[in-house]
This record gives sequence, C-alpha cells and structure tokens, in this order.
Amino acid sequence: MRGERKKTYDSEGHKALRKELINSLTEKGITSSEVLEAIERVPRHFFVPIRTSPEDAYADHALQIGEGQTISQPYTVAYQTQLLDIKEGNKILEIGTGSGYQAAVLYQWPIELYTIELNQTLYQRTKELFDQLNYSIHIFLGDGSLGLPTYAPFDRILVTAGAPSIPEDLLHQLSPGGKLVIPVGQPKTQKMYRITCNVFQQFDTEIFDLFSFVPLLGKYGWK
Ligand code: SAM
Repeated sequence: MRGERKKTYDSEGHKALRKELINSLTEKGITSSEVLEAIERVPRHFFVPIRTSPEDAYADHALQIGEGQTISQPYTVAYQTQLLDIKEGNKILEIGTGSGYQAAVLYQWPIELYTIELNQTLYQRTKELFDQLNYSIHIFLGDGSLGLPTYAPFDRILVTAGAPSIPEDLLHQLSPGGKLVIPVGQPKTQKMYRITCNVFQQFDTEIFDLFSFVPLLGKYGWK
C-alpha cells in the first residue's frame, strides 16, 4: 500500500455507518459524549487498507493493516480515549501509530499530539496520509517504549500495544497530574492500566478490563 494515494472521500453512506457504530459503542458502555463525537467525526475508512469494504471499515472489530499489525477495534479506541480523560491544551504522546486512526481520534481535541511507530513501512505510510489530510501531528519513527524524552513531559501518554510491564521511562515523562494508559499483561491478553502521576510525583494505579493487543516491542516490550 506504500506510495498508493488513499481516496479521502467521505460520503453520506460512510457517515450513516459511523452513526451505527456510535450506537453500538454506546450500547457497549462508552459514555463520554466527547469521545463518541470524536469517533463520529473521523472517517475510519481513510485508515484501513484500500480494498476494505465500508461495512467492514465501520464494523466494531480490529483489521489487519499489513506488517503483521492491526488497526484497533473502535470499542478499544473509544475505551482508551475515554480513560485518557483529555483536557484542552494537553500535550499527548501516542505509542504505536499504526494506521494513524487512534491519532486521528485524539486530534479531534485542541491538543498538541506526538505519535511514534517502530515499523518503518507503517511510519512512512501514515506520515504520507497525515500530510495528505493536512493533519498537524508530530510523527516519529523509533522505539516508543522509551517514550520521547526530548519532548517530555507529556500530560497524557497512550500505549496502543500490549506491554509485559509498565515501562519505567514512560512514568518519568509524565507531567504532574499526567496520565498513562497502557495495556499490561501476557503476549495475548492484557489488562488496561491507568497510572496517574500526582503532584508529589507518586503514581496511583487503576486497573480496568481485559483486552487483546498486538505485542509492544522494543527495549521495554516483548523480545
Ligand atoms: N494506534 C494504532 C492505530 O490506530 O492503528 C494501533 C496500532 S497496533 C494495535 C500497535 C502498533 O504498535 C503497531 O503498529 C506496532 O508496529 C507498534 N509498536 C509495537 N511496538 C512498538 C514500539 N516499541 N514503539 C513504537 N511502536 C510500536
């Protein structure tokens, strides 16, 4: 798909499919109107492989995007975004750019957004798509398990691949009051963690539901 210019046309049919998706996310327990509105605004079909049918692009499941990687299920994107509790002006780091869809959802808030991808092909493809869409997102190629120390601190850090444990480096890149949302556990199943850095630079941990992410690689990932 590299070098292939994506069709970026958003029809009434696509919008109707997004409305159905929003209804399904609401039924599954997503309550934040801001999150639901953000998902309703983002044309998910821009971010899936070009031959995917519109129905499949808006079905609530993950899809292959090449390189053995996936675009997360919309429910998972909504769930993580809701836990992130984004505030206007936040500086946010996403780890695992993949298709760019989760970044596009975050980009619906007035924030400063950084995203990092380890896979060169996905990085290049998504960078081109962001350029085509005129998205002003800082996209990097590299090991996101180390964070982005040059640009830290961040108000929010979102990891979109499953980690074996909480990467120490990420905790130290949170601003006071900052939150890290990360799936942690086994290679195939993980629990969603939200870690909040309080004003005393101590970390409060909350543990939520079970998910199944592709593995986080790199220094603090799976070998
Ligand atoms: N956020 C993505 C989206 O919206 O399409 C979902 C991405 S997929 C579930 C996880 C991504 O994390 C893959 O693209 C994978 O290459 C990437 N990844 C894995 N380990 C990484 C690391 N250490 N640093 C950066 N990206 C990593």
